[in-house]
Amino acid sequence: MARYTASVCKLCRRCSEKLMLKGSRCLTPKCAMERHRRAVGRRRRVSDRGLQLIEKQKVRYTYGVLERQFRRTFTQAERQLGITGDNLQVLLERRLDNVVYRLGFAESRAQARQLVQHGHIMLNGRKTDIPSCLVKEGDVISWKESSVNTEYYKQLVESIKARSVPSWLSLDRQKLSGQAISLPTPDEVDAKFDGQAIVEYYSR
Ligand code: SF4
Repeated sequence: MARYTASVCKLCRRCSEKLMLKGSRCLTPKCAMERHRRAVGRRRRVSDRGLQLIEKQKVRYTYGVLERQFRRTFTQAERQLGITGDNLQVLLERRLDNVVYRLGFAESRAQARQLVQHGHIMLNGRKTDIPSCLVKEGDVISWKESSVNTEYYKQLVESIKARSVPSWLSLDRQKLSGQAISLPTPDEVDAKFDGQAIVEYYSR
């Protein structure tokens, strides 16, 4: 499966925005955006088309989705009833790797994707290694039995006690299992973006 392999901090600099792609490092002075704050301030003027492109790329980078898959998700959002930009936000938020991240099982979406791809995560009791799989209302996300013996899992049991989860998810901190008690609404989506700008970008 194709994936982005260069430094993800470059993606933040391209969008002139902190996309929080590296977990807790993003909150420290080591963040590349903090170190290059002055240089970012000297950016030249960007056209409307350029701004729409940046908005689209920002969302793609945040959720770690390649262009072809992002386009497919956009088409799916267009076919649904309602506002395409809102539908797109909800579809991205329902991705299994994002849900694993939002439950606090991983520090970043990239790490969550790896947990899913390596088969550590179960969806409704069945191993699911497809990060783009959409979580539905009532779905239960848990760990594979053999994964609970890993050092990572043991540390997570301690660190997750202080984590809060969004209102559309519930988390059992003892068993480290979560459930989608409803579907997210656009207001509950973690990564805020201008959906209309993306609609306009693809409508040309
Ligand atoms: Fe972006 Fe995080 Fe890198 Fe800062 S540390 S540039 S927020 S990925």
